[in-house]
Amino acid sequence: MQLPLPPQIDAHAVIETIAPAKDVDGFHVASAGALMTGQPGFRPCTPYGVMKLLEQAGATLKGAEAVVVGRSNIVGKPQAMLLLQSDATVTICHSRTRDLAAHTRRADILVAAVGRAKMITGDMVKPGAIVIDVGMNRDAAGKLCGDVDFDSAREVAAWITPVPGGVGPMTRAMLLVNTIEAAERAAG
Ligand code: NDP
Repeated sequence: MQLPLPPQIDAHAVIETIAPAKDVDGFHVASAGALMTGQPGFRPCTPYGVMKLLEQAGATLKGAEAVVVGRSNIVGKPQAMLLLQSDATVTICHSRTRDLAAHTRRADILVAAVGRAKMITGDMVKPGAIVIDVGMNRDAAGKLCGDVDFDSAREVAAWITPVPGGVGPMTRAMLLVNTIEAAERAAG
């Protein structure tokens, strides 16, 4: 006998039931629209954290070539928007991008948000680039690693975030920032 399929949860529909004023993840379509149009609103925590890292590193974003690898709604697209709002010239790469390395090698700021262990190797990085590794993967030995091959990329990059201990803690920090902001706004 074939059992009935379990009900599917539509994550997007769930997010849309959240009041935008409490959307501390920044995933609601109202938050995405606010980001797109440069209005105030909650920014998704991971790309928001990346922007804080770039700020701390003293990165010059104005006019910089920024390449974001990945175009998800929670990382790649909002990341590209935030970089664009900071006056970077932004390229978004994805699984159908032809000659990925040709794009990444032009990047002054390279953000990898793919989900493929160590796929960005040192020869794909521009000397002196800032490399931000959002990926969280397991390597063949089961060890946590990013989308960037840290050992080869660190030889070329000026700045590079490690995995673990780079973007992940920033995501959690920005979630707290957004939560406190939501509470303060609610309190008037
Ligand atoms: P998704 O799977 O939603 O998106 C992955 C993106 O990578 C897609 O746009 C996909 O392209 C693209 N892609 C896949 N293969 C390739 C390829 N060979 N070349 C170029 N682009 C490719 O992932 P998320 O954005 O949710 O997450 C990305 C990574 O970041 C994951 O490892 C995840 O665990 C990690 N992550 C880490 C966080 C943190 O706090 N550190 C927070 C959130 C995510 P296409 O659209 O064409 O399919």
